[in-house]
Amino acid sequence: MQFDWELTGKIVWCLCLVAWALIRWVPNRRSRKVKIAATSRTLSERFSMTVSWLGLGGVPAVWVFTGFPAAFDHAANPILVVLGLIIFAISLRLFRLTHKALGAMWSHSLDLRENHKLVTSGIYEKVRHPMYSAFWLWALAQPFLLANWIAGFSGIVGFGILYFLRVGQEEAMMEQRFGEDYRVYRTRTKRVVPGIY
Ligand code: SAH
Repeated sequence: MQFDWELTGKIVWCLCLVAWALIRWVPNRRSRKVKIAATSRTLSERFSMTVSWLGLGGVPAVWVFTGFPAAFDHAANPILVVLGLIIFAISLRLFRLTHKALGAMWSHSLDLRENHKLVTSGIYEKVRHPMYSAFWLWALAQPFLLANWIAGFSGIVGFGILYFLRVGQEEAMMEQRFGEDYRVYRTRTKRVVPGIY
């Protein structure tokens, strides 16, 4: 019997999502206890969050559990599956570091919490959007793990829409709240890739 790399990729993908949910579990419960003082959640923000979750979770899950749309399947490749696992593992490590640094300042949308502090330490010394770096790595891992063109690339499209609609708005919100401190922080850090972008 031949080893089933397509199934292996699907199982790795599922396990990585479970690991991600576990990493987020405690920070999510903790940050909920700190009141939201101001929010910049717009209609476009709600739309892009939905699109992002469909791309990173919904569309791949439909393929993983039902095989739809099978017309876009392609052959699974062992090297790609292993690379996908490595990329997703780095993403998970990064998620952990971002939650550790942000603590209760974390929010899944554009919110500022009571007594919000600007975090510039830990992983936030390297880049100013390390959580988005982690989401980009997750999106990038999917075409390696999932042997279907639609399920594989939906995350890059979905998260890409959220990222590009949100990042400028988020920086404007942070600059409005933290003024010069944020402007200084912005000039000495890149957005998602240290030293490059
Ligand atoms: N863009 C960041 C955080 C994503 S979570 C990253 O990719 O790592 C989104 C929330 O985090 C925003 O609503 C904002 O309130 C908060 N946030 C973003 N950068 C922050 C920082 N440097 N310090 C404190 N809070 C921050």
